[in-house]
Amino acid sequence: MADPGWLVDNIIREVGDGHSTLFWTDPWLEERPLARSFGRLYDLAENKLITVAEMFGLGWGGVEMETEDNMLDRWVWKLHTSQRYSVKSAYSFITAIGSTHNERVDCFMWRKSVPLKVDIFVWRLFLNRLPTKDNLHKRGVIDTSQLSCATTCGKVEDNDHLFFQCDVYGCLWLLVSKWLRFESVFHGNIGFHSYQFRGFGGVSKCYRIAFTIIWISVLYIIWKDRNKRIFTPGADTLETMAEKVKSQTYWWLKLCYVLFDFDYSQWRQNPLACFHALV
Ligand SMILES: [Zn+2]
Repeated sequence: MADPGWLVDNIIREVGDGHSTLFWTDPWLEERPLARSFGRLYDLAENKLITVAEMFGLGWGGVEMETEDNMLDRWVWKLHTSQRYSVKSAYSFITAIGSTHNERVDCFMWRKSVPLKVDIFVWRLFLNRLPTKDNLHKRGVIDTSQLSCATTCGKVEDNDHLFFQCDVYGCLWLLVSKWLRFESVFHGNIGFHSYQFRGFGGVSKCYRIAFTIIWISVLYIIWKDRNKRIFTPGADTLETMAEKVKSQTYWWLKLCYVLFDFDYSQWRQNPLACFHALV
């Protein structure tokens, strides 16, 4: 398989007004995020999610660097002259460097309805390259006293625990499966869980697309909630998180599939009746 960092390394953040670029974790100044280049400073930073605009507002950057107030921040894809991300250019790159595909993972990658940043998240998740606490510990960033799951369930946070075994987030999977009108006991690791969940879509292509997108959305919502719990006080209820999955998937699908012209209330009440439009 290709170097796990290849996707991230081929995207840079071009700063406009700086309001939607994260100072530490987006690759905007160098090819890699400042959090990676200046790990110790990043550890000390009180607000790890501060934006470039906010840092400039605090006086960082001085007179030599300025934000462009009339321009929005944007992602630049380095592998195509258009600077726009495309599945084709990504595949060309992977093929060119001789990597092999894992078909099971491919089902969850490069979904045209899923935003690029979420694609990156899924890619890192499958490769166990997210900065989960066990991974941070392996890299010496945190010590053994800081390994517990952000939900305070008492277990150590690693990939499989956080997303598939945690008692707290496990309830989110139950709420979502209830919304999708099925019940099941879920597997506790990413390989089996992804295969199992996608399999609930049966043989219908539309259903499989829907179940895949929803699976990705649940994971992304869990990851965002986990970060929120770590970096800011307060946490969403599981019901709120389930509602976020419904609205996120609604907009992803609506922006991508022309036949998906349902009202949000229809999607929320009976998602299965909307799946046929995913062609
Ligand atoms: Zn937990």
